[in-house]
Amino acid sequence: MNAIPEIHKCNIYVALLNKKCIVISNPYNKIECVMKFLIRLLYLPLFTIGGNAIAIAVVSQGHSKLWLVVLLITFIAIAFLLERAAPFDKTFNQSRGDSGRDFLHALVNESLGILSVLSFPLLVLFNPLPSVWPDTLPLWGQLLLAVFIVDIGITLAHFVSHRINVLWQLHAVHHSVQRMYGFNGLMKHPLHQLIETVAGTTPLLLMGIPQDVLMLLLVAVGLQLLLQHSNVAYFTGPFKHLLAVNVVHRFHHINNAKEGDVNFGLFTQFTDYFLGTRYYDSVKKITIANLGIEDEPNYPSAYLQQLMTPFRGYDDPANEQKI
Ligand SMILES: [Zn+2]
Repeated sequence: MNAIPEIHKCNIYVALLNKKCIVISNPYNKIECVMKFLIRLLYLPLFTIGGNAIAIAVVSQGHSKLWLVVLLITFIAIAFLLERAAPFDKTFNQSRGDSGRDFLHALVNESLGILSVLSFPLLVLFNPLPSVWPDTLPLWGQLLLAVFIVDIGITLAHFVSHRINVLWQLHAVHHSVQRMYGFNGLMKHPLHQLIETVAGTTPLLLMGIPQDVLMLLLVAVGLQLLLQHSNVAYFTGPFKHLLAVNVVHRFHHINNAKEGDVNFGLFTQFTDYFLGTRYYDSVKKITIANLGIEDEPNYPSAYLQQLMTPFRGYDDPANEQKI
């Protein structure tokens, strides 16, 4: 009986476990093959459960909150590394002169996020309502509740941003991306981030959410944005029908308003099911050619220009289609 070559054993092994997602035609060695498989398998639980579990441990054990910043930076680095090890599309990893700009967007937006959490004691003063927040729940339960509530508010604000021109002008910065990779999930106009934040967190503040849970929520949003825009071809299984994962969110970045007017969810797809905007196609593959804004192919790519573009006026005929 002929022995099965190592390469074919590996192919069979991976193909059996994921017969749809991997097309193996190049010679893989067994270690590389298994490592790639493990990255794809563990990526989703690492970002959804692992990252948040570490954050909860940091807060519940009373460590310095600066560790949450370290945690987020570490996960950004992990995202960069694993996107190179197991990419969905290798061309998405190639810089298009956007790396420095995306770094500035992430730095400014995450800093503003931290500032807004730090301003929490001030915001609480303006809450006229008694707290109804279930602070007897374990921290993970409180975080889960906050995630579900913020998901509805941010998803609705996102949905509306594709229908009201002044909001679209701010949100267009995020849709101008020319490739999909985790880091550009953090790339958005700061004013639009503020609008989404207000829409998502106002109900939580009125309910009396504690500052610690708000901090954990900030980390959870950061991890989710990395996951949602990730260029790692991670396995999603049935979760692609529930969570706002990358295979679903890529359709939202299709460059024409008709096809891209789907999948607005941040964490889950529940609000999209409610709005009738949930869409998934297992066959269509999104490439560089599908991304960007069809009506504005020359959208500015420099950081300061992107901050100013929404204020240049609303008389661009191409933008009228977004109203
Ligand atoms: Zn959008």
